[in-house]
Amino acid sequence: MNLLTLNVSEKLSATVSQLAQTTSENLGLFESSMPLINGAYFVAAVLFIFSLIGLSKQESAESGVWYGIIGMAIALAATIANPSVTNIETILIAMVVGGLIGTWLAIKVEMTQMPELVAMLHSFVGLAAVAVGFNSFLEHQPMSGIMLNIHLVEVFLGVFIGAVTFTGSIVAFGKLRGIFSSKSLMLPHRHKMNLMAGLISIALMVYFVQQQGHMTSLLIMSGIALVFGWHLVASIGGADMPVVVSMLNSYSGWAAAAAGFLLGNDLLIVTGALVGSSGAILSYIMCKAMNRSFISVIAGGFGTNVVVSGDQDYGEHIETNAEDVADMLVNAKSVIITPGYGMAVAQAQYPVYELTRQLRDKGIKVRFGIHPVAGRLPGHMNVLLAEAKMPYDIVLEMDELNDDFPETDVVLVIGANDTVNPSAMDDPNSPIAGMPVLKVWNAKQVIGFKRSMNPGYAGVQNPLFFKDNTHMLFGDARDSVENIIKAM
Ligand code: NDP
Repeated sequence: MNLLTLNVSEKLSATVSQLAQTTSENLGLFESSMPLINGAYFVAAVLFIFSLIGLSKQESAESGVWYGIIGMAIALAATIANPSVTNIETILIAMVVGGLIGTWLAIKVEMTQMPELVAMLHSFVGLAAVAVGFNSFLEHQPMSGIMLNIHLVEVFLGVFIGAVTFTGSIVAFGKLRGIFSSKSLMLPHRHKMNLMAGLISIALMVYFVQQQGHMTSLLIMSGIALVFGWHLVASIGGADMPVVVSMLNSYSGWAAAAAGFLLGNDLLIVTGALVGSSGAILSYIMCKAMNRSFISVIAGGFGTNVVVSGDQDYGEHIETNAEDVADMLVNAKSVIITPGYGMAVAQAQYPVYELTRQLRDKGIKVRFGIHPVAGRLPGHMNVLLAEAKMPYDIVLEMDELNDDFPETDVVLVIGANDTVNPSAMDDPNSPIAGMPVLKVWNAKQVIGFKRSMNPGYAGVQNPLFFKDNTHMLFGDARDSVENIIKAM
């Protein structure tokens, strides 16, 4: 019996000492590999910054994408290599499943559906931040005093921003896809409701911290934030959607940064802050371009105090054909092309390139006027024209040529509508009132390429298409441009 006890105790002490050795080895490994992992995170963060710098110019955009890919690969490798990560199998399975879905979506998605995809991805970031917030509330290292208070504020803010981003992005997705109306939802007292939601959430946060964590407060705030996010985006009207998308982009960045604080992951904090601040800067630039107030966008209320004018009689529109347009073009000295969403739908950028080449060969001056929100995502038209290898120097911003229209012989409005709508300047009751537009009607002749007289994204009719100097060329924009080339 004694011999047996001795044997067992010997074995036990051997196991304990082996365990202690393994733990200390692990700890040693953990400590020795941390500088390497932090170094990798630092390199990844620098690459993300280079990626943003690269993406800011067409010429360097491709290298910008590569910096981003390499940075993300390093970040993933460093996270998996972290010895404190125990459930590698789960992470790898999640990565493979996520990677496969991402690859499938990226291959399948049309360029015109990109903003919808981006909105949907933002909603995932929001949902992840909510999940991380609840998880960190339920399971965290023992802490007390100020550290616990800071942790609880992080949890509360992370869940709040995540929930607002989640439902806001779902509404944005629905509006961009056409599932929900693109018009703004105008509930009575909506600004007061938004303010109340904000104030109640602040009061709940104070109570949550005072109680050293109070699940009911967290749950009530989550419900309020979900409704708040939904209402915030639903109350913003059609033509203002680009600002909403970039604003949600910014929110998703802050949600990721909040998750980074909760997980103690420095790279997630840096990356979230980069996305959050660049999204905020983009929203600010877009607000300026759209002549909107940045503060009222954040409050979810701009562009909504307008009354959509009823059915108005704009008169008759004049139709034309490809032969007449070809004739007009070859006799012109100066031509401006203002592309819009319809060019993207029709994939007309390739025949447009060919038309431009032929006109330039004839000594005709051809330029492109790009509205900041033409298409369905920032820079949409620039991407399409770059894809068709259009020379960059003839692709100009709206402000660079908006005063040149009076000296222009022909303007080709290819699939654009809201961005060339004079009501933005003439009609204070229009939902797009105040938005700067391309003043194409000042040119000698305007050709409108469309399939019908249907309105554009904002859902308002465009008086441009009824003006005496505007002729409508109906049909798919790609076919119409190809027919003009044939006629030339
Ligand atoms: P619009 O969406 O106002 O109009 C596009 C026009 O293209 C429509 O009138 C449509 O008329 C025509 N069209 C569609 N398909 C074809 C086709 N195959 N061939 C020929 N014409 C076609 O475009 P804009 O670019 O002028 O304005 C963009 C709008 O989208 C703005 O209101 C902007 O606020 C909004 N928006 C922009 C985002 C961005 O980031 N850029 C994001 C979200 C929204 P028809 O059906 O008669 O052919």
